[in-house]
Amino acid sequence: MPSAHRTLVWFRGKDLRVADHAPLRDAAAAGEVIPLFVLDPYFFAPTRARATPHRIQFLLESLRELESSLARLGSQLLVVRGRSVDVVPRLAHRWRADRVAAYGWVAPVGRERDRRVSEQLRVPFDLSDGETLLPPGSLRSGTGRPYAVYSAFRRAFDRAALIGAPQPAPRRLPPLPAGLEARTVPVPTCESLGVPINPRLQSGGEAAARRRLRRFLDGPAGDYHRARDRLDLAGTSRLSADLKFGTLSARTVWTAADRALRSTAARQAFLNELVWREFCHSTIFDRPELLHEPFRRDFTGFPWRDRKSWWEAWVAGATGYPVVDASARQLLAEGFVHNRARMISASFLAKHLLIDYRRGEAHYMRYLTDGDWANNNGGWQWAAGCGADAQPYFRIFNPVSQGRTFDPTGDYVRRWVPELARLSNEHIHAPWTAPSDRLEGAGVRLGREYPRPIVEHRAARERFLALAKAHFSRTTKRGTELNDRGTES
Ligand code: FAD
Repeated sequence: MPSAHRTLVWFRGKDLRVADHAPLRDAAAAGEVIPLFVLDPYFFAPTRARATPHRIQFLLESLRELESSLARLGSQLLVVRGRSVDVVPRLAHRWRADRVAAYGWVAPVGRERDRRVSEQLRVPFDLSDGETLLPPGSLRSGTGRPYAVYSAFRRAFDRAALIGAPQPAPRRLPPLPAGLEARTVPVPTCESLGVPINPRLQSGGEAAARRRLRRFLDGPAGDYHRARDRLDLAGTSRLSADLKFGTLSARTVWTAADRALRSTAARQAFLNELVWREFCHSTIFDRPELLHEPFRRDFTGFPWRDRKSWWEAWVAGATGYPVVDASARQLLAEGFVHNRARMISASFLAKHLLIDYRRGEAHYMRYLTDGDWANNNGGWQWAAGCGADAQPYFRIFNPVSQGRTFDPTGDYVRRWVPELARLSNEHIHAPWTAPSDRLEGAGVRLGREYPRPIVEHRAARERFLALAKAHFSRTTKRGTELNDRGTES
């Protein structure tokens, strides 16, 4: 007897797992399953692949593991090349699938792709929610508008959120239907795409993600509320790439932490970060244009001064501010930066150096393994002061006191700026304040082994404030009116 349904399950890079995968489970329960991954040139063309080598490496590793997991369950991942908008409708038709199932994306590029795919498909296109804990766009203020303030969003989330238990992987999958013809290709290697391998990257794949989650919950999670901001401790989960690529579902992480963390303070602090992720995703869902423009309209036309030498110093980790430089070097080396270091570094670029935050945002997207449109945009707009519920523009991080507070042992700087390793804790965050004999003893000649600060903190701070005030005096009335119409808390 023929199976009731034949479902093409389209894996799209934010769902690289077999556990808690609703489209896969539902398809297996309903009949035949064809698991598909499309190597779309939008992401995998050589120029693009070269532009985001860290994410490509993580994704390919995860994809290889997904391929083995599906094989172990009795099925097979089919990998094809081509533009998704052409390939998926064509194969669904050729393979006589009676529906296509996938997880929906929050990011505008994915939504546009899905709109175009649905136009071409002759069968239903079932998109499940699951990238976030709640369906994007589902939280609305009393007047039906998106939230612009995190605390109000959080309260609404707490009222609404009934987070279901994650589902295990299917015990077995049906074999691929016979006679499927297509030009399939093996899962590519980094080498075949011309992507250099970085051995310092976190490993991709579902198994590594589960180990990371376990290690975190059994270890630093219990002290998360105290240690999460410390640059010199491994106090956070390092699950951001797993959440981005879906090697763990958001609700798997939520549920595991909710169950495992006994300390209320630690639990609340950690879950709160997952809700920030929801807030960033929800904001981009409602306002896709924020990927190009500031949330606060009064920031539009801000007179950024993109000075080339300052930009280059910031990128290379040679600004003369050790904590800023450590974070720049960590990014290039590991494809990861601690959250506090991201905040300090982003603020420094926008406020001290007056460089358009969007350049920093693009640079992060190029190197971060967890680089994610929603979270990255949210982080950059927050740090620059122009985002939803952002750091006020007049609060300007002092990179020296931030370093001393959040890297009190100096170990973060010692790791990434080894030329300063022999300086004492007292001077490591401000080497120019060290007496010459101390510098000499530590083998540091300012301007030789390590640069002098490219800007002076107080002067840079005053310069930003003056510029911002002058700018807002021109734009605030209009900006406030626009914001009031756009959103509310
Ligand atoms: P944990 O502290 O263990 O947090 C758990 C999870 O919560 C994270 O994995 C992440 O998914 C989420 N989360 C934590 N903090 C935030 C936050 N502030 N906003 C949204 N979600 C959060 N995060 C990304 O995932 N991708 C990005 O591209 C990204 N770019 C950023 C850029 C800037 C300028 C800033 C200030 C922050 C950015 N973040 C980004 C948020 C945050 O820095 C990272 O999620 C976090 O450092 C990842 O480390 P972790 O997994 O150990 O975090």
